[in-house]
This record gives sequence, structure tokens and C-alpha cells, in this order.
Amino acid sequence: MHEPISLSRSTRFVVLTGAGISAESGIATFRDANGLWEQHAVEDVASPDGWERDAALVWRFYSERRAKAAEAKPNAGHFALARVQRHLGSDFTLITQNVDNLHSLAGSTGVIHMHGELFKTRCENPDCKLAPFEDKRLYMDAKALPRCTLCGARLRPHIVWFGEVPLELHPIKRKVEDCDLFMTVGSSGVVYPAAGFVRELVYRRQMGESCRAIYVGLERPANADQFQETRLGKSGEILPTLFTLDA
Ligand code: NAD
Ligand code: ZN
Repeated sequence: MHEPISLSRSTRFVVLTGAGISAESGIATFRDANGLWEQHAVEDVASPDGWERDAALVWRFYSERRAKAAEAKPNAGHFALARVQRHLGSDFTLITQNVDNLHSLAGSTGVIHMHGELFKTRCENPDCKLAPFEDKRLYMDAKALPRCTLCGARLRPHIVWFGEVPLELHPIKRKVEDCDLFMTVGSSGVVYPAAGFVRELVYRRQMGESCRAIYVGLERPANADQFQETRLGKSGEILPTLFTLDA
């Protein structure tokens, strides 16, 4: 039996979540779906090439994801992280690779969505002034795809596709360089740069700093050897009792 991890109010704590934390809420991880959607490799739909080839197919894919995510509810793992944030305040940082909104629904604030947000839409024109906006609509009709009201270009999902650069990498880097504890939850450790964040902790430990990294998830991730501790199991079962919140 593992000891709980004690968090004092001054612990600087960075958490990175992946698809695994939303699995118990019924949102399929990449692996569960075998990386396929309607016989298309997800990489072929969720990519700039896919968008150029068939924008209607891309919007149908994300409209289905929106409909599915709209039914999902946060689970005990999401709630446990929101509780930790209430304890630590600004010393807590939550970075997610997930595009669903379950962390926010559980009460987390300031979530860094490095791979974008399913319920936002933006203009495809990088020079356009239209900011990404909240959007829960479904675009299933190929003849009625949305257009930007400012510049007339096509509107696209606010999602970081394969081959695109993740969002907020600079603030993330600063937080990871400065934390006492880093935890990854439910991420297979193969999608970079997210899978590489833990390396900063390895480097800092080699320099004599006392920071550490822990992994929580169903199975050992590809980068497991870079964590000092691995707790295997469902995040909704492990996270609620993982921490003691000290004064
Ligand atoms: P992944 O599918 O590659 O890995 C998921 C990991 O979660 C696996 O290691 C699996 O063992 C683990 N897992 C499964 N059920 C779990 C549970 N109940 N508790 C804890 N762990 C569990 O996902 P990834 O590493 O996040 O990378 C895939 C990419 O796909 C990401 O870039 C992400 O943006 C995207 N994605 C997002 C969502 C979402 O928004 N919810 C869902 C699927 C994929
Ligand atoms: Zn525009």
C-alpha cells in the first residue's frame, strides 16, 4: 500500500492530464478507439491535410465529438484535482491534453488547454482578428459550413491538429521549470511535446533539486522510467485518496 502524498499550501504542483482522466466519463481514449473513426485514421481527419482535403468530413468528426462530450460528466478524478486547486490556489497549475471541458465542469479554473478546446471555434485565417469563441453548435451539413463574419474565411475547430504547434508552451515551460511536484495522469507518453515535460524534472534532479514526478494511470506509459513513482489504476479511484492536504 502506497503512502498518500502530502501537499502543503506552499507546494508548487503542476498536473498534466491526458485522455485517461476522461475515460471514466465515457469519452474514448485514442487507444480504445484504435485510432480510427468511420474507417478513417484519426490522424487523417485531425490534421491540416485532412482539412484541405475534406473540411465537411472534419466538421462532422468534431460535431460528433461535441455531441458526445456534451453528454459527459466529470468523474471523481476531475473533482479531486479541483479540490487540490482550492487548497493550493495559485501554486497549482493544471495542463490538459484533453479538448473536453470536464475539468472546468468539475470546478477547476485557469485550465491550460494545450491541444485546444472542443467547444470553441476559430477562423482558419491566422491574420484574422476574430478570437476563438464558445461554440456548441454541430456542423453536420456539408453545404452549410460556417464562415468568418470578419474576413469570410472558413471557420475551423479550435483544436491543435497533428502537425500543429500546441498552445501556451511558454507558460507551461515556466511552470514545469519551477514546480516541486509534477504529476501526469492518464497519458500514454507518446504524444510530444507533452510527453517530454517530465524530462525537465529529470534534468533538475540531476542538478540536485528535490523536485519529483509521479504518474497515475491504468498502465505504465512509454516514458515511465522518467517518473520517480507510478501508481497504476483508474484515475477516478486513485486521485480522490492520493493526497493529504496539510496546512
Ligand atoms: P492516449 O489515448 O494515448 O492514452 C490514454 C492513457 O490513459 C493510456 O495510457 C491508458 O492506459 C490510460 N487510461 C485509460 N483509462 C484510464 C483510467 N480510467 N484512468 C487512468 N488512466 C487511464 O491519450 P493521450 O496520452 O492523452 O494522447 C492522445 C491525444 O489524443 C492527446 O493529444 C489528446 O489531445 C487527444 N485526445 C483527447 C481526448 C479528450 O479530450 N478527452 C480523448 C482522446 C484523445
Ligand atoms: Zn476571419
